[in-house]
Amino acid sequence: MYIKEKFIYINEQNRQVMNKKIHLDEDEMPREWYNILPDLPEPLPPPLNPVTGQPVSPKDLEPIFPKELIRQEMSQERFIPIPEEVLDVYRIWRPTPLIRAYRLEKALRTPARIYYKYEGVSPPGSHKPNTAVAQAYYNAREGVERLTTETGAGQWGSALSFATMLFGLKLTIYMVKVSYMQKPYRAILMRTWGAEVVPSPSNRTKYGRSILEKDPDNPGSLGIAISEALEDAISHEDTKYSLGSVLNHVLLHQTVIGLEAIKQLEAEDEFPDIVIGCVGGGSNFAGISYPFYYLVRSGKAPKRTRFLAVEPASCPSMTKGEYMYDYGDTAGLTPLLKMYTLGHDFIPPPIHAGGLRYHGAAPTLSLLKKAGIYESTAYNQVEVFEAARLFAQTEGIVPAPESAHAIKAVIDEAIKAKQKGEEKVILFNLSGHGLLDLAAYQDFLDGKLPAHEYPAEAIQRSIEKIKALLLEKGIKP
Ligand SMILES: *Cc1c(COP(=O)(O)O)cnc(C)c1O
Repeated sequence: MYIKEKFIYINEQNRQVMNKKIHLDEDEMPREWYNILPDLPEPLPPPLNPVTGQPVSPKDLEPIFPKELIRQEMSQERFIPIPEEVLDVYRIWRPTPLIRAYRLEKALRTPARIYYKYEGVSPPGSHKPNTAVAQAYYNAREGVERLTTETGAGQWGSALSFATMLFGLKLTIYMVKVSYMQKPYRAILMRTWGAEVVPSPSNRTKYGRSILEKDPDNPGSLGIAISEALEDAISHEDTKYSLGSVLNHVLLHQTVIGLEAIKQLEAEDEFPDIVIGCVGGGSNFAGISYPFYYLVRSGKAPKRTRFLAVEPASCPSMTKGEYMYDYGDTAGLTPLLKMYTLGHDFIPPPIHAGGLRYHGAAPTLSLLKKAGIYESTAYNQVEVFEAARLFAQTEGIVPAPESAHAIKAVIDEAIKAKQKGEEKVILFNLSGHGLLDLAAYQDFLDGKLPAHEYPAEAIQRSIEKIKALLLEKGIKP
């Protein structure tokens, strides 16, 4: 009773409604994904075969990906229909809410209006199932029986477990052995959804066995896990491989986020002055921002919106990297992609935002930054967790450490707006919740979180190395 009375009291005193959750009806959900390829300011440099230095052909990719995803990867169609079967699964949690961050605005005393799209409402707790579901569907439709993938912190592994379960596919996940030991909860989630989780290096593959022979206690790495997942897929007729970020088809599936946000903001008669998102490989930021980019580019937007990518200071690919060809993975097995990179063998410090520890950034996002259309910035993890705590204490949601990078940039933009007295509209993507990342919050609250800064020398060495390698192969960086 007391609480109820107090609540009524607060509402009477303070007539401004403090909650605004902008919902969309299910039948207003986007029926097509947006493909940015035809709308880039210049053609995307093609991925190169690292042996021949020649552009990769669709045939080269067929042992690892289903045909429809290869077609989408290279498609020049602006809008690609979302299959009914995929929409049916999206309906479990989509459309996701767009929320006005009134309490955060109040705490900052900013005239800016802050909106966030909340992707943490999906069953795995992040944006990643938007593509996992589509990928599982196309593989199942083409008769694939099993998928393989790698996972570090476990966000991608859990999203793909959820998706493959719904389409009756088997899934083998090579999980970096130290993460498997230190972060058991994500692996439990994957197993609950029926996936097989193999600590990597494992004795399942030739490559894994060769590592274990030399060093039975090897803690594993993302590079080793990728190599194992690829070898497993290539050596089995009924098996393909799946990737959770970076590639064009992955970014394309994520555009449901921005397409929904456009309609939700429209209902409020709003348009963002700035769109902000965190960037690991770039999929969630592309997902929220590309549909707005399309409106701006095609002259349909009422404003000249800015686009801001946020990275960790310890792994600032877009902010401090070089725009050049590099391998997409740490093991050097994939085609060469033209992108901002820190060098594929650069090993970032072990920050808690595991999903942002990627050496490169998606080729389309990199091109937009190179063209001066997108901006980027970087923060260390201590300032990021301070922002995360303020968000949890105002908006209630405990953000994923990755998403908290975006929040830090939002707070800085809102403070700038206050200093200039501008009524800016800020939109950001809250890519996931942090309820399986509480160990990171524990380190922060206990003052045990190192503020890893930019490791300039290690990055320089790594970039020089890939440049020398390209030169040797006769490929222009
Ligand atoms: C994986 C992940 C990211 C980073 O990946 P992108 O492809 O850059 O989006 C960001 N936030 C969350 C919650 C993640 O799980």
